[in-house]
Amino acid sequence: MVVYLCLKSVWISPQDAVKQIISAAKTTGRLRIEHNTLVTKITKIEQNTTLPSNHSHLKNWQLSTNKGDFEASVVIFCGGADIINFDWLNQLPFSSVQGQVTSMKTNENIQPLSTVICHKGYLTPHHNNMHCIGATFNKDSTRITTLPEEDEFNINMLSTCMPELANSVNWSKQDIASSKSRLRCMTPDHLPMVGPMPDIKKHIDTYPHLAKDKNWKYNQVAPVVDNLYIMMGFGARGLCSAPLAADILTANLCGTPYPVDNDMLFNLSPNRFIIRDIIRRKNNIS
Ligand SMILES: Cc1cc2nc3c(=O)[nH]c(=O)nc-3n(C[C@H](O)[C@H](O)[C@H](O)COP(=O)(O)OP(=O)(O)OC[C@H]3O[C@@H](n4cnc5c(N)ncnc54)[C@H](O)[C@@H]3O)c2cc1C
Repeated sequence: MVVYLCLKSVWISPQDAVKQIISAAKTTGRLRIEHNTLVTKITKIEQNTTLPSNHSHLKNWQLSTNKGDFEASVVIFCGGADIINFDWLNQLPFSSVQGQVTSMKTNENIQPLSTVICHKGYLTPHHNNMHCIGATFNKDSTRITTLPEEDEFNINMLSTCMPELANSVNWSKQDIASSKSRLRCMTPDHLPMVGPMPDIKKHIDTYPHLAKDKNWKYNQVAPVVDNLYIMMGFGARGLCSAPLAADILTANLCGTPYPVDNDMLFNLSPNRFIIRDIIRRKNNIS
């Protein structure tokens, strides 16, 4: 069994990190947050104008929500696994993997731990007198209720991978403080999708030669749906990869330099799966 001790690694409390990021963004005076607002549908507003379709000040989208309709010039899909069946997104190969983490009460034997230990799962130092252990993985599940057997799985995994440590900590189910079950949004290659929403029909029309020769060199710009972007599919690593993804999306939206090279941009671009399907002739290409 391999156990990793990464001395230069960091760990963060996700809730605290998100609160800090939002409060920092609020100081710009340019952030407006609508809480408890569930978007149920996104509809394109057809413009009766001769302006270019990516004119960003236009109201291009209507968002139907439980609090009425909102209009937006640009929409970024970033709802994680909850929205993979939305129109537009349901054309892309997202899937959901449920996971449960367990918060364990600290005790004098584990309290001094000052770094995260990664084995087949992980164990964090204590925060608010609790250590986080996890996590379970259940493919294609959308269950967000916790199960006692998944807590047991997390405790047993620690015992299997780090028997000496587990023995000295001596946790049992009575030491469980709380547990949480949530969904990870996955992609087939385990990399996120970041960038403009591809226009799938136009991709098929633009790159037909790829179905005959996957090395065909093409110069055409990838056809996209104007003013519609994706930042999803962070799987089990969102806290590490989302900041870079946000920088890429900022470059997309503001026309600033990209923080990664072209190969990486393609590796993260949502249209990589459309191109792959054309090459594999999965799009009714003859
Ligand atoms: C058990 C478990 C353990 C994990 N452990 C780690 C870890 O150790 N390290 C790590 O880096 N990552 C970890 N992850 C992954 C990490 O949590 C995700 O990668 C990250 O949360 C993805 O961020 P996101 O913003 O894309 O999606 P989410 O965090 O799912 O956020 C989506 C947001 O969109 C909102 N939303 C959804 N639908 C709608 C709608 N229709 N209308 C309005 N709002 C909507 C949701 O309320 C939510 O606030 C773990 C995940 C799980 C489930």
